[in-house]
Amino acid sequence: MNIDLEIFSPVHQIKNILFDDKGLEVFIKRDDMIHPIISGNKWRKLKHILLQAQAQGKNHLVTFGGAYSNHLLATAAAAARFGFKATGIVRGEEVQNDTLFLCRLHGMQLIFTNRESYRDKPALFKKYFADNTDAFFIDEGGASAEAAKGCSELVNELTQSYDHILCACGTGTTAAGIINGINQHNLSTQFNAIPVFKNGDFIKDEIDKFLLTPTNYQLHTSYHFGGYGKTTNELIGFIKQFVIDTGILIEPVYTGKMLYALYDLAAKDYFKPGSKILAIHTGGIWGLLGMKDKF
Ligand SMILES: *Cc1c(COP(=O)(O)O)cnc(C)c1O
Repeated sequence: MNIDLEIFSPVHQIKNILFDDKGLEVFIKRDDMIHPIISGNKWRKLKHILLQAQAQGKNHLVTFGGAYSNHLLATAAAAARFGFKATGIVRGEEVQNDTLFLCRLHGMQLIFTNRESYRDKPALFKKYFADNTDAFFIDEGGASAEAAKGCSELVNELTQSYDHILCACGTGTTAAGIINGINQHNLSTQFNAIPVFKNGDFIKDEIDKFLLTPTNYQLHTSYHFGGYGKTTNELIGFIKQFVIDTGILIEPVYTGKMLYALYDLAAKDYFKPGSKILAIHTGGIWGLLGMKDKF
């Protein structure tokens, strides 16, 4: 099967009195619109991994994630779309939630495993799939050079140049890919990474691992709101207002934190007047279903 999606990821301008006051033009790249389930950076990260699986004649994707993992769900849907079987190895004791419901609905088999054994993913793969020549290992979050390559393709789609690009970081693979894309096109765009983890400085090593040429970029580590998956009333309030103002749905784990950072940096005059800024909407809005009680 031809492993490809027609990429539909328009760029929309975000109008706001703050941006007018500061002389900024702000845009958002709607990677959340690429696919309703295989959304955002998760499709970009999976594309070359799936091509590699196909080239090796493997038709069973095996991957890993927490019970709310956007990567698990994207893999489940991509597997169904492109004719693979899929198994998700899920961290922690057996639970039911909306993400896992959607994974199962796309035919993904789920294996729950305790946190201790979850740490050694190659060992888990061996335990369950040692004799299965169809099985193809995909690391948690899809972190790999292939994933970074897929993310670099985002830059090919840009029809304007920007002074700044902002993107949320989990593993940092998406950030690395976009930075590589910026370099491949010889753009002078400043890349701004927003880690969603506490003590996010470590992400620099993760990003640098996948850079094709050493590059300076900006790391904004103070927008984690307590850590991965954590929120505050301030962040939730910001998200509600953003959705009402723009009609663009965002979630608190990734894009909400990145956009909060963008507004905060703009208010603090971080960006020079006249700057053109592009925020990347990396998708993942199904994650909202697991956070309804926070709203
Ligand atoms: C996974 C994910 C990210 C983080 O991507 P990395 O490549 O791991 O840094 C960002 N946004 C959303 C919505 C995600 O699902």
